[in-house]
Amino acid sequence: MTATQEQMEERRRQVAVFDGDVDRARSGYFVGEGWHAILDDLVRDFAEIEGLGFLSAHEKFGSLRVSYLYPGDRTDEVEGIVKHAADRALVLCWYCGQPGRLKQERWWRVRCDKHWSAE
Ligand SMILES: [Zn+2]
Repeated sequence: MTATQEQMEERRRQVAVFDGDVDRARSGYFVGEGWHAILDDLVRDFAEIEGLGFLSAHEKFGSLRVSYLYPGDRTDEVEGIVKHAADRALVLCWYCGQPGRLKQERWWRVRCDKHWSAE
């Protein structure tokens, strides 16, 4: 690894949340408030697995995407937690967390009826 890559890795380890501290994790939630409860649960689930650190969450094509650090071998379990969160996000409004639908209107998003009509 080059010095720069090592510095980037070190930086990622510093910002990653390993202990379920959702207040700290929230600075990495780049999604609407409607999805924050889903991510809080994910961050707490992550804390159950040794060495697993939450980095950030984004929306892509309407779906929840999660970045994390994990050097261990329980990858299936980690992917299971991420998939569970992404499945929940597909049916909850990005803005308010009420039941919503994934639809394409210019681009893919998940919104409840109220927030679909508001956009
Ligand atoms: Zn809504």
